[in-house]
Amino acid sequence: MTKFSDLNLDPKVFKAIADAGYETPTPIQAGAIPHALNGRDVLGIAQTGTGKTASFTLPMVSMLARGRARARMPRSLVLCPTRELAAQVAESFDTYAKYVKLSKALLIGGVSFKEQDLLIDKGVDVLIATPGRLLDHFERGKLLLNGVQIMVVDEADRMLDMGFIPDIERIFSLTPFTRQTFFYSATMAPEIERITNTFLSNPARIEVARQATASEMIEQGVVMFHPSRRDREASEKRNLLRALLDGEGEKLTNAIIFCNRKTEVDALAKSLKKSGYDAAPIHGDLDQSQRTRTLDGFREGKLKLLIASDVAARGLDVPAVSHVFNFDVPSHPEDYVHRIGRTGRAGREGKALMLCGPRDEKNLDAVEKLLQKEIPRIDNPLTGDKPAGDAPKDAPKEAAKDTPGETASDTPKDSPKAKPAPRRRAAKPADKPEKAEKAEPDAPVKDEPPRESKPRTDQRSNQGGRGRSDSGNKVVGMGDHLPGFIAKSFDERRAG
Ligand code: AMP
Repeated sequence: MTKFSDLNLDPKVFKAIADAGYETPTPIQAGAIPHALNGRDVLGIAQTGTGKTASFTLPMVSMLARGRARARMPRSLVLCPTRELAAQVAESFDTYAKYVKLSKALLIGGVSFKEQDLLIDKGVDVLIATPGRLLDHFERGKLLLNGVQIMVVDEADRMLDMGFIPDIERIFSLTPFTRQTFFYSATMAPEIERITNTFLSNPARIEVARQATASEMIEQGVVMFHPSRRDREASEKRNLLRALLDGEGEKLTNAIIFCNRKTEVDALAKSLKKSGYDAAPIHGDLDQSQRTRTLDGFREGKLKLLIASDVAARGLDVPAVSHVFNFDVPSHPEDYVHRIGRTGRAGREGKALMLCGPRDEKNLDAVEKLLQKEIPRIDNPLTGDKPAGDAPKDAPKEAAKDTPGETASDTPKDSPKAKPAPRRRAAKPADKPEKAEKAEPDAPVKDEPPRESKPRTDQRSNQGGRGRSDSGNKVVGMGDHLPGFIAKSFDERRAG
Protein backbone atom coordinates (compact mmCIF):
# COMPACT_ATOMS: atom_id res chain seq x y z
CA MET A 1 0.00 0.00 0.00
CA THR A 2 1.32 3.46 -0.89
CA LYS A 3 2.41 5.61 2.05
CA PHE A 4 2.54 9.39 2.11
CA SER A 5 6.30 9.10 2.53
CA ASP A 6 6.46 7.38 -0.89
CA LEU A 7 4.88 10.34 -2.62
CA ASN A 8 7.77 12.78 -2.74
CA LEU A 9 5.80 15.62 -1.22
CA ASP A 10 7.56 18.64 0.24
CA PRO A 11 8.64 17.79 3.84
CA LYS A 12 6.60 20.73 5.14
CA VAL A 13 3.50 19.36 3.46
CA PHE A 14 4.30 15.93 4.83
CA LYS A 15 4.42 17.43 8.33
CA ALA A 16 1.04 19.12 7.84
CA ILE A 17 -0.46 15.80 6.71
CA ALA A 18 0.83 14.15 9.87
CA ASP A 19 -0.73 16.97 11.93
CA ALA A 20 -4.04 16.37 10.16
CA GLY A 21 -3.83 12.77 11.37
CA TYR A 22 -3.92 11.16 7.93
CA GLU A 23 -2.18 7.82 7.87
CA THR A 24 -2.37 6.63 4.30
CA PRO A 25 -3.23 8.28 1.01
CA THR A 26 -6.63 7.44 -0.42
CA PRO A 27 -6.70 5.79 -3.88
CA ILE A 28 -7.26 9.07 -5.71
CA GLN A 29 -4.34 10.62 -3.81
CA ALA A 30 -2.02 7.68 -4.38
CA GLY A 31 -2.99 7.70 -8.05
CA ALA A 32 -2.90 11.42 -8.79
CA ILE A 33 -0.10 12.89 -6.64
CA PRO A 34 2.92 11.24 -8.33
CA HIS A 35 1.72 12.35 -11.78
CA ALA A 36 0.92 15.84 -10.52
CA LEU A 37 4.39 16.18 -9.02
CA ASN A 38 5.88 15.03 -12.32
CA GLY A 39 4.19 17.94 -14.05
CA ARG A 40 1.50 15.92 -15.79
CA ASP A 41 -2.11 16.87 -16.30
CA VAL A 42 -4.49 14.80 -14.22
CA LEU A 43 -8.03 13.74 -15.02
CA GLY A 44 -9.61 12.59 -11.75
CA ILE A 45 -12.91 10.78 -11.97
CA ALA A 46 -13.96 10.89 -8.37
CA GLN A 47 -16.59 12.36 -6.20
CA THR A 48 -16.59 14.05 -2.86
CA GLY A 49 -15.65 11.85 0.08
CA THR A 50 -12.79 10.16 -1.77
CA GLY A 51 -10.12 12.63 -0.61
CA LYS A 52 -10.01 14.28 -4.04
CA THR A 53 -9.41 17.79 -2.69
CA ALA A 54 -6.14 16.78 -1.06
CA SER A 55 -5.18 14.91 -4.23
CA PHE A 56 -4.68 18.28 -5.92
CA THR A 57 -3.97 20.60 -2.97
CA LEU A 58 -1.08 18.51 -1.60
CA PRO A 59 0.97 18.51 -4.82
CA MET A 60 0.02 22.13 -5.47
CA VAL A 61 1.34 23.26 -2.10
CA SER A 62 4.51 21.22 -2.68
CA MET A 63 5.07 22.76 -6.09
CA LEU A 64 4.11 26.32 -5.15
CA ALA A 65 6.33 26.28 -2.06
CA ARG A 66 9.07 27.48 -4.38
CA GLY A 67 8.64 30.81 -6.17
CA ARG A 68 6.70 33.98 -5.58
CA ALA A 69 3.56 35.54 -6.99
CA ARG A 70 3.58 38.79 -8.94
CA ALA A 71 1.04 41.57 -8.55
CA ARG A 72 -2.37 40.69 -10.00
CA MET A 73 -0.98 37.50 -11.51
CA PRO A 74 -2.05 34.45 -9.51
CA ARG A 75 0.25 31.47 -9.92
CA SER A 76 -2.53 28.94 -9.64
CA LEU A 77 -6.25 28.88 -10.03
CA VAL A 78 -8.88 26.55 -8.57
CA LEU A 79 -12.36 26.77 -10.05
CA CYS A 80 -15.28 25.43 -8.04
CA PRO A 81 -18.98 25.36 -8.94
CA THR A 82 -20.27 26.65 -5.59
CA ARG A 83 -19.20 29.02 -2.87
CA GLU A 84 -19.32 26.30 -0.25
CA LEU A 85 -17.00 24.06 -2.18
CA ALA A 86 -14.65 26.98 -2.85
CA ALA A 87 -14.58 27.76 0.87
CA GLN A 88 -13.82 24.12 1.69
CA VAL A 89 -10.97 24.07 -0.82
CA ALA A 90 -9.60 27.24 0.76
CA GLU A 91 -9.72 25.56 4.18
CA SER A 92 -7.91 22.62 2.77
CA PHE A 93 -5.09 24.91 1.57
CA ASP A 94 -4.93 26.37 5.08
CA THR A 95 -4.52 22.88 6.51
CA TYR A 96 -1.86 21.60 4.13
CA ALA A 97 0.08 24.84 3.69
CA LYS A 98 0.40 25.57 7.38
CA TYR A 99 4.20 25.28 7.30
CA VAL A 100 4.58 26.89 3.87
CA LYS A 101 4.25 30.56 3.17
CA LEU A 102 1.51 30.69 0.57
CA SER A 103 -0.91 33.50 -0.08
CA LYS A 104 -4.40 32.83 -1.31
CA ALA A 105 -7.56 34.71 -2.20
CA LEU A 106 -11.14 33.56 -2.48
CA LEU A 107 -13.36 35.06 -5.18
CA ILE A 108 -16.91 33.99 -4.44
CA GLY A 109 -20.27 35.63 -4.01
CA GLY A 110 -20.88 36.92 -0.50
CA VAL A 111 -17.23 37.79 0.16
CA SER A 112 -16.36 41.45 -0.19
CA PHE A 113 -14.62 42.38 -3.41
CA LYS A 114 -12.49 45.03 -1.76
CA GLU A 115 -10.68 42.73 0.59
CA GLN A 116 -9.98 40.15 -2.14
CA ASP A 117 -8.95 42.92 -4.56
CA LEU A 118 -6.25 44.00 -2.14
CA LEU A 119 -4.92 40.47 -1.84
CA ILE A 120 -4.92 39.93 -5.59
CA ASP A 121 -3.25 43.28 -6.15
CA LYS A 122 -0.39 42.17 -3.95
CA GLY A 123 -0.12 38.86 -5.79
CA VAL A 124 -1.45 35.47 -4.70
CA ASP A 125 -0.10 31.97 -5.06
CA VAL A 126 -3.54 30.39 -5.10
CA LEU A 127 -6.75 31.94 -6.32
CA ILE A 128 -9.88 29.94 -5.54
CA ALA A 129 -12.97 31.11 -7.38
CA THR A 130 -16.35 30.42 -8.82
CA PRO A 131 -16.23 30.95 -12.60
CA GLY A 132 -18.63 33.90 -12.82
CA ARG A 133 -16.87 35.88 -10.11
CA LEU A 134 -13.50 35.21 -11.64
CA LEU A 135 -14.56 36.51 -15.04
CA ASP A 136 -16.15 39.60 -13.45
CA HIS A 137 -12.82 40.38 -11.89
CA PHE A 138 -10.95 39.68 -15.05
CA GLU A 139 -13.23 41.90 -17.08
CA ARG A 140 -12.83 44.75 -14.62
CA GLY A 141 -9.12 44.59 -15.29
CA LYS A 142 -8.33 43.53 -11.74
CA LEU A 143 -6.66 40.33 -12.63
CA LEU A 144 -4.32 38.78 -15.19
CA LEU A 145 -4.50 35.10 -15.91
CA ASN A 146 -1.35 34.73 -17.95
CA GLY A 147 0.75 33.85 -14.92
CA VAL A 148 -1.33 30.77 -14.08
CA GLN A 149 0.95 27.74 -13.93
CA ILE A 150 -1.56 25.32 -12.42
CA MET A 151 -5.28 25.31 -13.03
CA VAL A 152 -7.80 23.06 -11.29
CA VAL A 153 -11.38 22.48 -12.37
CA ASP A 154 -13.23 20.81 -9.52
CA GLU A 155 -16.59 19.06 -9.89
CA ALA A 156 -16.82 19.69 -13.62
CA ASP A 157 -20.04 17.67 -13.87
CA ARG A 158 -21.70 20.16 -11.55
CA MET A 159 -20.28 23.04 -13.58
CA LEU A 160 -21.99 21.49 -16.58
CA ASP A 161 -25.32 21.24 -14.73
CA MET A 162 -25.03 24.88 -13.74
CA GLY A 163 -24.26 26.19 -17.20
CA PHE A 164 -20.67 27.15 -16.40
CA ILE A 165 -18.97 25.27 -19.23
CA PRO A 166 -18.68 28.29 -21.59
CA ASP A 167 -17.08 30.20 -18.68
CA ILE A 168 -14.64 27.37 -18.06
CA GLU A 169 -13.69 27.26 -21.72
CA ARG A 170 -13.11 30.99 -21.72
CA ILE A 171 -10.97 30.79 -18.59
CA PHE A 172 -8.93 27.95 -20.08
CA SER A 173 -8.26 30.07 -23.13
CA LEU A 174 -7.11 33.00 -20.98
CA THR A 175 -4.46 30.97 -19.18
CA PRO A 176 -1.11 30.04 -20.73
CA PHE A 177 -1.12 26.85 -22.73
CA THR A 178 1.91 25.70 -20.80
CA ARG A 179 -0.13 25.45 -17.63
CA GLN A 180 -0.61 22.17 -15.81
CA THR A 181 -4.25 21.16 -15.46
CA PHE A 182 -6.03 19.05 -12.85
CA PHE A 183 -9.58 18.27 -13.82
CA TYR A 184 -12.09 16.49 -11.58
CA SER A 185 -15.52 15.17 -12.36
CA ALA A 186 -17.69 12.50 -10.78
CA THR A 187 -19.02 11.45 -14.18
CA MET A 188 -17.79 11.79 -17.74
CA ALA A 189 -20.69 13.19 -19.74
CA PRO A 190 -19.91 13.67 -23.46
CA GLU A 191 -19.58 17.44 -22.96
CA ILE A 192 -17.04 16.88 -20.17
CA GLU A 193 -15.16 14.41 -22.34
CA ARG A 194 -15.02 17.04 -25.07
CA ILE A 195 -13.58 19.67 -22.72
CA THR A 196 -10.94 17.30 -21.40
CA ASN A 197 -9.99 16.27 -24.93
CA THR A 198 -9.60 19.92 -25.87
CA PHE A 199 -7.86 21.38 -22.85
CA LEU A 200 -5.94 18.61 -21.15
CA SER A 201 -2.64 17.39 -22.40
CA ASN A 202 -2.19 13.63 -22.29
CA PRO A 203 -3.64 13.46 -18.79
CA ALA A 204 -3.06 10.69 -16.30
CA ARG A 205 -6.56 9.35 -15.82
CA ILE A 206 -7.33 8.22 -12.28
CA GLU A 207 -10.73 6.80 -11.63
CA VAL A 208 -12.08 5.81 -8.26
CA ALA A 209 -15.22 3.83 -7.69
CA ARG A 210 -18.49 5.66 -7.61
CA GLN A 211 -20.19 5.99 -4.31
CA ALA A 212 -22.79 3.53 -5.51
CA THR A 213 -20.76 0.80 -3.78
CA ALA A 214 -21.05 2.65 -0.47
CA SER A 215 -24.75 3.15 -1.04
CA GLU A 216 -25.21 -0.58 -0.73
CA MET A 217 -24.72 -0.10 3.00
CA ILE A 218 -27.61 2.31 3.08
CA GLU A 219 -31.04 0.99 3.75
CA GLN A 220 -33.29 2.44 1.11
CA GLY A 221 -37.01 2.69 0.65
CA VAL A 222 -39.58 4.58 -1.36
CA VAL A 223 -43.17 5.37 -0.47
CA MET A 224 -45.47 5.70 -3.44
CA PHE A 225 -47.69 8.63 -2.71
CA HIS A 226 -51.10 9.28 -4.23
CA PRO A 227 -52.87 12.44 -3.06
CA SER A 228 -56.57 12.15 -2.32
CA ARG A 229 -57.19 15.31 -4.30
CA ARG A 230 -54.94 17.35 -6.49
CA ASP A 231 -55.39 20.51 -4.44
CA ARG A 232 -54.35 18.61 -1.32
CA GLU A 233 -51.20 17.19 -2.79
CA ALA A 234 -48.78 19.61 -1.16
CA SER A 235 -50.20 19.33 2.36
CA GLU A 236 -50.67 15.56 2.15
CA LYS A 237 -47.12 15.11 0.98
CA ARG A 238 -45.83 17.07 3.97
CA ASN A 239 -48.06 15.01 6.25
CA LEU A 240 -46.48 11.91 4.86
CA LEU A 241 -42.98 13.27 5.40
CA ARG A 242 -43.78 14.09 9.02
CA ALA A 243 -45.10 10.59 9.54
CA LEU A 244 -41.92 9.14 8.08
CA LEU A 245 -39.78 11.38 10.29
CA ASP A 246 -41.75 10.44 13.39
CA GLY A 247 -41.65 6.79 12.44
CA GLU A 248 -37.87 6.76 12.62
CA GLY A 249 -38.05 7.75 16.30
CA GLU A 250 -34.75 7.82 18.19
CA LYS A 251 -32.88 6.29 15.27
CA LEU A 252 -33.14 9.62 13.52
CA THR A 253 -30.38 11.75 15.01
CA ASN A 254 -30.21 14.18 12.12
CA ALA A 255 -31.29 14.26 8.52
CA ILE A 256 -30.93 16.06 5.25
CA ILE A 257 -34.21 16.42 3.39
CA PHE A 258 -33.74 17.10 -0.31
CA CYS A 259 -36.20 18.93 -2.50
CA ASN A 260 -35.88 19.60 -6.22
CA ARG A 261 -36.79 23.27 -6.05
CA LYS A 262 -35.68 26.21 -3.96
CA THR A 263 -39.29 27.31 -3.44
CA GLU A 264 -40.09 23.87 -2.04
CA VAL A 265 -37.05 23.97 0.24
CA ASP A 266 -38.31 27.18 1.81
CA ALA A 267 -41.93 26.09 1.99
CA LEU A 268 -41.06 22.75 3.57
CA ALA A 269 -38.67 24.23 6.13
CA LYS A 270 -41.31 26.75 7.12
CA SER A 271 -44.00 24.13 7.44
CA LEU A 272 -41.81 21.77 9.48
CA LYS A 273 -40.77 24.56 11.82
CA LYS A 274 -44.39 25.52 12.26
CA SER A 275 -45.14 21.93 13.27
CA GLY A 276 -42.45 22.04 15.92
CA TYR A 277 -39.57 20.35 14.10
CA ASP A 278 -36.03 21.66 14.35
CA ALA A 279 -35.53 22.50 10.66
CA ALA A 280 -33.78 25.11 8.53
CA PRO A 281 -33.42 25.61 4.79
CA ILE A 282 -30.30 25.89 2.67
CA HIS A 283 -30.24 26.84 -1.01
CA GLY A 284 -28.45 29.15 -3.37
CA ASP A 285 -30.67 32.21 -2.89
CA LEU A 286 -29.99 32.57 0.82
CA ASP A 287 -27.26 34.95 1.75
CA GLN A 288 -23.87 33.55 2.51
CA SER A 289 -23.83 34.31 6.23
CA GLN A 290 -27.16 32.57 6.69
CA ARG A 291 -25.99 29.52 4.74
CA THR A 292 -22.80 29.32 6.78
CA ARG A 293 -24.73 29.66 10.05
CA THR A 294 -27.18 26.95 9.08
CA LEU A 295 -24.45 24.57 7.97
CA ASP A 296 -22.32 25.15 11.05
CA GLY A 297 -25.37 24.48 13.21
CA PHE A 298 -26.05 21.24 11.37
CA ARG A 299 -22.45 20.06 11.59
CA GLU A 300 -22.30 20.84 15.29
CA GLY A 301 -25.50 18.92 15.97
CA LYS A 302 -27.46 22.01 16.98
CA LEU A 303 -29.80 21.69 14.03
CA LYS A 304 -31.57 18.40 13.39
CA LEU A 305 -33.16 18.73 9.96
CA LEU A 306 -31.44 20.43 7.06
CA ILE A 307 -33.80 21.06 4.15
CA ALA A 308 -31.62 21.36 1.08
CA SER A 309 -31.39 21.73 -2.64
CA ASP A 310 -28.87 19.65 -4.56
CA VAL A 311 -26.68 22.54 -5.50
CA ALA A 312 -26.36 23.89 -1.97
CA ALA A 313 -25.65 20.50 -0.46
CA ARG A 314 -23.21 19.44 -3.12
CA GLY A 315 -19.72 18.70 -1.90
CA LEU A 316 -20.52 19.42 1.72
CA ASP A 317 -18.51 17.46 4.17
CA VAL A 318 -20.96 16.57 6.93
CA PRO A 319 -19.60 13.44 8.56
CA ALA A 320 -22.50 11.87 10.44
CA VAL A 321 -25.99 11.96 9.02
CA SER A 322 -28.37 9.23 10.15
CA HIS A 323 -31.03 9.78 7.50
CA VAL A 324 -31.57 11.26 4.09
CA PHE A 325 -35.07 11.97 2.84
CA ASN A 326 -35.86 12.64 -0.77
CA PHE A 327 -38.97 14.75 -0.56
CA ASP A 328 -38.90 14.71 -4.35
CA VAL A 329 -37.38 12.11 -6.61
CA PRO A 330 -34.40 13.91 -8.16
CA SER A 331 -34.79 14.74 -11.82
CA HIS A 332 -31.15 13.84 -12.54
CA PRO A 333 -30.73 10.22 -11.47
CA GLU A 334 -27.05 10.69 -10.43
CA ASP A 335 -28.27 13.12 -7.80
CA TYR A 336 -29.96 10.23 -6.04
CA VAL A 337 -26.56 8.63 -5.50
CA HIS A 338 -25.06 11.93 -4.33
CA ARG A 339 -27.96 12.59 -2.00
CA ILE A 340 -28.10 9.23 -0.30
CA GLY A 341 -24.30 9.16 -0.10
CA ARG A 342 -24.63 11.74 2.70
CA THR A 343 -25.65 8.98 5.06
CA GLY A 344 -24.26 5.55 5.86
CA ARG A 345 -20.69 6.80 5.83
CA ALA A 346 -17.74 5.02 7.36
CA GLY A 347 -19.60 1.92 8.39
CA ARG A 348 -22.33 3.85 10.17
CA GLU A 349 -25.89 2.79 9.60
CA GLY A 350 -27.68 4.96 7.15
CA LYS A 351 -31.19 5.14 5.88
CA ALA A 352 -32.54 6.88 2.82
CA LEU A 353 -36.28 7.24 2.31
CA MET A 354 -37.97 8.78 -0.67
CA LEU A 355 -41.45 10.04 -1.46
CA CYS A 356 -42.65 9.40 -4.97
CA GLY A 357 -45.77 11.16 -6.20
CA PRO A 358 -47.58 10.36 -9.43
CA ARG A 359 -45.54 12.86 -11.42
CA ASP A 360 -42.24 11.56 -9.99
CA GLU A 361 -42.61 8.05 -11.36
CA LYS A 362 -40.65 8.74 -14.54
CA ASN A 363 -37.77 10.05 -12.45
CA LEU A 364 -37.97 7.00 -10.20
CA ASP A 365 -37.62 4.76 -13.25
CA ALA A 366 -34.49 6.66 -14.28
CA VAL A 367 -32.98 6.33 -10.78
CA GLU A 368 -33.65 2.60 -10.68
CA LYS A 369 -32.18 2.19 -14.14
CA LEU A 370 -29.01 3.90 -12.98
CA LEU A 371 -28.82 1.81 -9.80
CA GLN A 372 -29.71 -1.28 -11.78
CA LYS A 373 -31.99 -2.36 -9.02
CA GLU A 374 -35.36 -1.62 -7.62
CA ILE A 375 -35.67 0.51 -4.51
CA PRO A 376 -37.84 -1.38 -2.02
CA ARG A 377 -41.38 0.00 -1.76
CA ILE A 378 -42.51 0.64 1.76
CA ASP A 379 -45.97 1.15 3.19
CA ASN A 380 -47.45 4.57 3.43
CA PRO A 381 -47.48 5.03 7.22
CA LEU A 382 -50.59 7.19 7.05
CA THR A 383 -52.77 4.98 4.92
CA GLY A 384 -50.97 1.67 5.14
CA ASP A 385 -51.18 1.67 1.37
CA LYS A 386 -48.84 -0.22 -0.81
CA PRO A 387 -50.05 1.04 -4.16
CA ALA A 388 -51.02 -1.72 -6.53
CA GLY A 389 -48.25 -2.79 -8.77
CA ASP A 390 -45.68 -0.77 -6.86
CA ALA A 391 -44.55 -3.41 -4.47
CA PRO A 392 -42.09 -5.82 -5.96
CA LYS A 393 -42.77 -9.25 -4.56
CA ASP A 394 -39.12 -9.77 -3.95
CA ALA A 395 -38.46 -6.44 -2.25
CA PRO A 396 -35.61 -6.99 0.19
CA LYS A 397 -36.81 -7.72 3.70
CA GLU A 398 -34.36 -5.50 5.51
CA ALA A 399 -36.03 -2.32 4.31
CA ALA A 400 -39.34 -3.61 5.44
CA LYS A 401 -38.13 -4.73 8.86
CA ASP A 402 -38.33 -1.29 10.33
CA THR A 403 -40.49 0.54 7.92
CA PRO A 404 -41.69 3.76 9.40
CA GLY A 405 -45.20 2.46 9.22
CA GLU A 406 -44.65 0.19 12.18
CA THR A 407 -43.96 2.94 14.58
CA ALA A 408 -45.44 5.98 12.95
CA SER A 409 -48.43 7.44 14.59
CA ASP A 410 -51.35 7.81 12.29
CA THR A 411 -51.80 11.35 13.36
CA PRO A 412 -48.45 12.98 13.07
CA LYS A 413 -47.53 15.91 15.25
CA ASP A 414 -49.75 18.86 14.50
CA SER A 415 -51.21 17.00 11.63
CA PRO A 416 -52.39 19.58 9.19
CA LYS A 417 -55.23 17.27 8.27
CA ALA A 418 -57.43 19.45 10.38
CA LYS A 419 -55.94 22.61 9.02
CA PRO A 420 -57.14 24.40 5.91
CA ALA A 421 -55.27 23.68 2.72
CA PRO A 422 -52.19 25.87 2.43
CA ARG A 423 -52.37 29.02 0.36
CA ARG A 424 -49.72 27.64 -1.92
CA ARG A 425 -51.00 26.34 -5.18
CA ALA A 426 -50.65 22.67 -5.81
CA ALA A 427 -47.49 21.86 -7.68
CA LYS A 428 -47.59 22.66 -11.35
CA PRO A 429 -48.05 19.89 -13.86
CA ALA A 430 -44.98 18.02 -14.88
CA ASP A 431 -44.80 19.60 -18.28
CA LYS A 432 -44.58 23.04 -16.74
CA PRO A 433 -42.22 22.58 -13.85
CA GLU A 434 -41.14 25.44 -11.65
CA LYS A 435 -37.66 26.47 -12.47
CA ALA A 436 -35.44 23.90 -10.89
CA GLU A 437 -32.31 25.07 -9.12
CA LYS A 438 -30.23 22.98 -11.49
CA ALA A 439 -30.71 25.45 -14.25
CA GLU A 440 -29.27 28.25 -12.17
CA PRO A 441 -25.93 28.90 -10.65
CA ASP A 442 -25.64 28.37 -6.94
CA ALA A 443 -25.24 32.01 -6.14
CA PRO A 444 -28.09 34.40 -6.82
CA VAL A 445 -28.44 34.91 -10.52
CA LYS A 446 -27.02 38.42 -10.50
CA ASP A 447 -24.04 37.10 -8.62
CA GLU A 448 -22.84 34.41 -10.97
CA PRO A 449 -24.46 34.73 -14.36
CA PRO A 450 -23.49 31.97 -16.73
CA ARG A 451 -22.07 33.91 -19.61
CA GLU A 452 -22.26 33.55 -23.30
CA SER A 453 -18.82 33.21 -24.62
CA LYS A 454 -17.59 31.76 -27.79
CA PRO A 455 -15.76 28.59 -26.86
CA ARG A 456 -12.28 29.02 -28.15
CA THR A 457 -10.20 26.06 -28.98
CA ASP A 458 -7.12 25.95 -26.88
CA GLN A 459 -4.04 26.28 -29.02
CA ARG A 460 -2.78 23.11 -27.45
CA SER A 461 -5.53 21.09 -29.04
CA ASN A 462 -3.71 21.29 -32.33
CA GLN A 463 -0.68 19.58 -31.01
CA GLY A 464 -0.04 15.95 -31.50
CA GLY A 465 -0.91 13.70 -28.63
CA ARG A 466 -3.47 16.17 -27.22
CA GLY A 467 -6.49 14.80 -25.57
CA ARG A 468 -5.32 11.30 -25.26
CA SER A 469 -5.76 10.11 -21.77
CA ASP A 470 -3.47 7.68 -20.22
CA SER A 471 -5.59 4.63 -20.39
CA GLY A 472 -2.59 2.67 -19.22
CA ASN A 473 -3.21 3.90 -15.69
CA LYS A 474 -5.16 1.40 -13.81
CA VAL A 475 -8.53 2.20 -12.43
CA VAL A 476 -8.46 2.21 -8.71
CA GLY A 477 -11.52 1.96 -6.56
CA MET A 478 -12.33 2.25 -2.91
CA GLY A 479 -13.73 -1.27 -3.04
CA ASP A 480 -14.64 -2.49 0.40
CA HIS A 481 -12.04 -0.24 1.90
CA LEU A 482 -13.72 2.56 3.78
CA PRO A 483 -11.00 4.83 5.07
CA GLY A 484 -11.36 6.33 8.51
CA PHE A 485 -11.18 9.85 7.14
CA ILE A 486 -14.75 9.68 6.01
CA ALA A 487 -15.76 9.79 9.64
CA LYS A 488 -13.53 12.77 10.45
CA SER A 489 -15.25 15.96 11.29
CA PHE A 490 -15.04 19.09 9.28
CA ASP A 491 -12.40 21.68 10.00
CA GLU A 492 -14.35 24.55 11.51
CA ARG A 493 -11.98 27.28 10.49
CA ARG A 494 -13.56 29.55 8.01
CA ALA A 495 -11.63 30.56 4.93
CA GLY A 496 -11.24 33.82 3.61
P1 AMP B 1 -12.90 15.20 -0.14
O1 AMP B 1 -13.21 13.99 -0.95
O2 AMP B 1 -11.79 15.99 -0.73
O3 AMP B 1 -14.14 16.02 0.07
O4 AMP B 1 -12.34 14.72 1.30
C1 AMP B 1 -13.15 14.12 2.28
C2 AMP B 1 -12.55 14.22 3.68
O5 AMP B 1 -11.44 13.35 3.81
C3 AMP B 1 -12.04 15.57 4.12
O6 AMP B 1 -12.62 15.84 5.37
C4 AMP B 1 -10.54 15.43 4.25
O7 AMP B 1 -10.05 16.21 5.32
C5 AMP B 1 -10.35 13.96 4.54
N1 AMP B 1 -9.14 13.34 3.99
C6 AMP B 1 -8.58 13.54 2.79
N2 AMP B 1 -7.54 12.74 2.59
C7 AMP B 1 -7.40 11.96 3.68
C8 AMP B 1 -6.49 10.90 4.06
N3 AMP B 1 -5.53 10.49 3.27
N4 AMP B 1 -6.65 10.34 5.26
C9 AMP B 1 -7.63 10.77 6.06
N5 AMP B 1 -8.52 11.74 5.77
C10 AMP B 1 -8.41 12.34 4.58
